[in-house]
Amino acid sequence: MARNHLLFVGGDWRPGARGHRLDLIDPATERGIGQVACAAPDDIDDALAAAAGALDAWRARAPDDRGRILLDAADLLDARLDAAAADLSEEQGKTVAEARGEYARAVETLQWYGANAADLCAPVALDRSRTLVPSAVGVVAAFTPWNYPAVLNARKLAAPLVAGCTVILKAAEEAPSAGCHLVEVLHEAGAPAGVVNLLFGDPPEISRRLVASAAVKALTFTGSTRVGKQLAALAAANLQRCVLELGGHSPVIVCADTDLPAAARAICDYKFECAGQSCNAPSRVIVEATVYERFLEHLVAMAGAIRVGDGRDPATDMGPMANARRIEAMRALIGDAVDRGANVLIGGAEPAGPGFFWPPTILTDVPADARILREEPFGPVLAVSRFEDFDDAIRQANTTDYGLASYVFTASRDRRAQATAGLAVGSVSFNRLKGIAADAPNCGIDDSGYGYEGGMEGLREFQYLKLVNH
Ligand code: NAD
Repeated sequence: MARNHLLFVGGDWRPGARGHRLDLIDPATERGIGQVACAAPDDIDDALAAAAGALDAWRARAPDDRGRILLDAADLLDARLDAAAADLSEEQGKTVAEARGEYARAVETLQWYGANAADLCAPVALDRSRTLVPSAVGVVAAFTPWNYPAVLNARKLAAPLVAGCTVILKAAEEAPSAGCHLVEVLHEAGAPAGVVNLLFGDPPEISRRLVASAAVKALTFTGSTRVGKQLAALAAANLQRCVLELGGHSPVIVCADTDLPAAARAICDYKFECAGQSCNAPSRVIVEATVYERFLEHLVAMAGAIRVGDGRDPATDMGPMANARRIEAMRALIGDAVDRGANVLIGGAEPAGPGFFWPPTILTDVPADARILREEPFGPVLAVSRFEDFDDAIRQANTTDYGLASYVFTASRDRRAQATAGLAVGSVSFNRLKGIAADAPNCGIDDSGYGYEGGMEGLREFQYLKLVNH
């Protein structure tokens, strides 16, 4: 049955004032599977009015009350997880197993912020005569992408809602169902009209109109560095706070003292999830020269065994990429690297037939001036290089303008300390590739953005601390 995703404004679903719609495409078949409503300026203004109108009552509620709504929403989402995961797989391309895992993390995110609402929002006594009272900043504009829409929408909603803010969520048009499911469960769980609003449409038009409104006090965006910089520039005019979770180009360093097959397995499992379209997934593997050939054999064997296909087929390990833009990007970046002398060990070209499929691709001997070593590849491609001494590994790891995640496989305590101090990134993981959890703050630096998501720090992005002297 064709899908018809609507906007949610002031507690009601609506088609959009001008009736415009976008087609929704199944990336495995390139066939249309439904439509998404587009917001007109009137819809955006209505969402602003609804969010501003609901603010005072929402921030005056006890944090526990707000948390209870998130906990109930988590239960509701959990109960419809199978159907929601099937929708996500159909529109985004990821396997059903990946979609289920992602929704499980979305549920955990609502649960963590819901269960900890009272503690997170509690006044902080500095001493007997001074207290910091966390206070909601106001209306938040949130922008989410198409790669992990379930968990990213959950993160973009949970922290500001618990903080006492109302939210206008502009979710990704190419993967709209997660935003709809999340807004629906929050509404059913008792979030009052106007507290959560959902828009789709023309992203620049919506963001310009939202950020131009003095009612919006903060914006939170996950997406490309290019768009993040545009939004930060817009936000400067009204001095709105920004949380910018932008791209990444994560290195993984593999030392000779590690279990090579286990490292290759962990890298493949994390890297090729969601067809490599993850800001945290590694894109560069830097291997100690003495084990370089041996490690490559493991990596190539494991990556080459990945079964690429329709995400709904239980036999599939990796689905298609989300859209034709990613295929064009793979062609351009890999073509450029090959033109400059890189070797393709596996993959490197798309198969014939419909669908946005790109196979796991491993490149070696990629020259330093290749675009793929500077631009975020955001796809199932790894560039492998070697290092002679650990200082050189750290230097190679730090060569991009991004600074999001990094990974190191080593048994050496000294090297772990050296990597922790030397890697210019928001997170370092040793001997595993770990995803993001709701209870821990996560950030990028440099071109990967600024601000925190997750944990208390992620909540404080949407609160100011009022100093009360008594
Ligand atoms: P894009 O830069 O056009 O869009 C990225 C996201 O931002 C999309 O969800 C889009 O709807 C939204 N967007 C675009 N312009 C906007 C605007 N003016 N205001 C508000 N939102 C806007 O590119 P794309 O082709 O969708 O994705 C390509 C690149 O984006 C990738 O190469 C990757 O670097 C980055 N990306 C990063 C993440 C992440 O998790 N950090 C997720 C998706 C995409």
